Amino acid sequence: MAENMESLNFIDRFIQEDIAEGGAYAGKTVHTRFPPEPNGYLHIGHCKALTIDFGTALKFGGLCNLRMDDTNPTKEDVEFVDAIKEDIHWLGFDWGDRFYYGSDYFEKDYEYAVELIKKGLAYVCELTPEQFKEYRGDLNTPAISPYRDRPIEESLDLFARMRAGEFEDNKYTLRAKIDLASGNFNMRDPVIYRIRHMHHHRQGDKWCIYPMYDFAHPIQDALEGITHSLCSLEFENHRPLYNWVVENTSVPHTPRQIEFARLGIDHTVLSKRYLRALVEQGFVDGWDDPRMPTLCGLRRRGFTPASIRNFCERVGVAKSPNTIPLAFLDFCLREDLNETAQRVMAVLKPVKLTITNYPEGQTETMVVENNPNRPEDGTREITFSRNLWIESDDFLAEPVPKYKRLYPNGPECRLKGAYLIQCTGCVTDENGNVTEILATYDPESRGGDPADGRKVKGATIHWVDAATAVDAEVRQYENLFQAVNPDTSSMEALVKDMNPNSLEVLTGCKVEASLANAKAPASYQFMRLGYFCPDSKDCAPGHLVFNRSVSLKDSFKPGK
Ligand code: ATP
Ligand code: MG
Repeated sequence: MAENMESLNFIDRFIQEDIAEGGAYAGKTVHTRFPPEPNGYLHIGHCKALTIDFGTALKFGGLCNLRMDDTNPTKEDVEFVDAIKEDIHWLGFDWGDRFYYGSDYFEKDYEYAVELIKKGLAYVCELTPEQFKEYRGDLNTPAISPYRDRPIEESLDLFARMRAGEFEDNKYTLRAKIDLASGNFNMRDPVIYRIRHMHHHRQGDKWCIYPMYDFAHPIQDALEGITHSLCSLEFENHRPLYNWVVENTSVPHTPRQIEFARLGIDHTVLSKRYLRALVEQGFVDGWDDPRMPTLCGLRRRGFTPASIRNFCERVGVAKSPNTIPLAFLDFCLREDLNETAQRVMAVLKPVKLTITNYPEGQTETMVVENNPNRPEDGTREITFSRNLWIESDDFLAEPVPKYKRLYPNGPECRLKGAYLIQCTGCVTDENGNVTEILATYDPESRGGDPADGRKVKGATIHWVDAATAVDAEVRQYENLFQAVNPDTSSMEALVKDMNPNSLEVLTGCKVEASLANAKAPASYQFMRLGYFCPDSKDCAPGHLVFNRSVSLKDSFKPGK
């Protein structure tokens, strides 16, 4: 029984009925599976599916298998298998010892196909793919299948010879004998086996006939004792065929397929085909490019497992297709990091600030909180001296209306956690560019508050001590696609919808010394700037590289 009745979605309610007394699975352990095709890396859409598969099992105290759907003998790769496992574990889900390959059931698939032939429920057909299309019929016209009444013995013989490799690709198919007039075209005697002289990544050249997904999948589910086979909505029309296979073969279990809507996200492409093309054609820096919607990309960008699980949970399980704003994914990350990320100071576009009344050669140490939300995270020390780095846009030689930061003879400003200062002027080079900002400080304001309680009119700005600051490269990301709905009619069209400014690389940034040994996984709030993480590939001591995970500003408005 599910623990929390409040949070039940429609899938949970179906399952609850099924396992209740008198239900089809009364008293059984709920058993689900996640069946990725190992032909690419998992993306955020898969996360929704696997959160449902693993999450539903958890909710009911059941089990969830991980099964590589490698029925199709193309493009599968161990690189992908390993990455898929790593990604699922990283998200926090586990399949125990129940890791399977769809291809491990090929022999069983074959036996069940033979069973169907023997029952007069499948036959070998020799229409060419073109004829097959031509004879499909339409809503008012049944399909035509000239080989439908082939004698059982003949089909058995031909099917055995198909397996033995006697025929070239597409010469014969095995078709289920169901209903040529069905309003559901998937039931018009669908092909369940075809000839493909192709090497399989695990089976080698053992097979030259391969089962179709619609035939293999229900058998895999049934053999593993899956009670509830949860899948995305495009399989709804295939459910009658799924049930037909389960009913008409002697498989040991009767799984139930339930469909849910696929996840769509604006400004994002979630088709492996296009994600692969972006990688292969060099439009991004690999599957784990921080702009990619892949799990490895999101991880490198600084997403936490909690933020992604949270996102999937809040997106919910619905039957109607919906597109979620990409900004909502950011929102979930920001919310998590706001709680957990350590606060530090970093200056992305630095300019020098000299405190003219601070003694040369003097330095002092300030103790600052690591995270005001979590006192248990403790404090750290930062140094302060006469020369600091500040953000160049925290100074204007000529103030504009309402500007509350530094300008000559402007308002008193607070250096975060340090002292109050007032700008007195600046130094410019021969071209008039500002090279140094000058200010005086109030020695009585250590910690950032005036001794006499006067009101500080200026802004609080962040800074790092030039004497101890460390150089860093910072990569800032925007949406990979500028179009809300990227055009996937062709790769050419898709590329046109890409955002030319999706990556901005800043070098010569200055970060506080505590970050000198930063490495992934870690998340920091660079105060006033956003959340950043050390890049898992390129960041090393002596060459710091940070990715902006998400800005501080929230562009997501709930309810809009
Ligand atoms: P793609 O079209 O990107 O190749 P796929 O569905 O073929 O995706 P699989 O590896 O077969 O990729 O997917 C594994 C599981 O993840 C399937 O059950 C599929 O329904 C589900 N899935 C894939 N994309 C999404 C999505 N955007 N939203 C929800 N579930 C998804
Ligand atoms: Mg698939």
